Amino acid sequence: MHGQFGATDRIRTLGDPVLKQETRDVSPVEEDLTDLLETMFAVMDREQGVGLAAPQIGIQKRLMVWRNPETEEGYVLVNPRIVERSEETELAEEGCLSIPGRVMQVERSERIVVEGTNASGAPVKLEATGLLARIMQHEIDHLDGNLILDRTSTEERRRVHKEIRQSMDS
Ligand code: ZN
Repeated sequence: MHGQFGATDRIRTLGDPVLKQETRDVSPVEEDLTDLLETMFAVMDREQGVGLAAPQIGIQKRLMVWRNPETEEGYVLVNPRIVERSEETELAEEGCLSIPGRVMQVERSERIVVEGTNASGAPVKLEATGLLARIMQHEIDHLDGNLILDRTSTEERRRVHKEIRQSMDS
């Protein structure tokens, strides 16, 4: 079962069906996630991302890694779910490793509470605000089959699609 991971250090990009599919929960107790998590951290760091969700390397598991941009500390979240979100939102520019070279305005909750487990299966509950809350929401979106293009305004979506078309023509 782990044999498939060797070929998965390639970032899946827009148009790859795996990015639109839902993921399934993982049991860190029954399943050894070491190799997969190692690959995810390696890909995230290689691509200089602040977060990576398993579907981005073709794995339909509810699993994400992220790195605190200030402390550079790395974290794992298994089966993360947003259990609380602030009504207050923030609009800011976001990019995605799966949509290379494009940025767009995305509205996110300013504060969220996430529940899941760590890589050993121990329960984790964390509160995040601002940029960290944005990173979490972005990666958890991936686990639900959503991309920033699904979250941005119609105008932004049109602009980005047009940019992509033009870059393909040239
Ligand atoms: Zn992304």
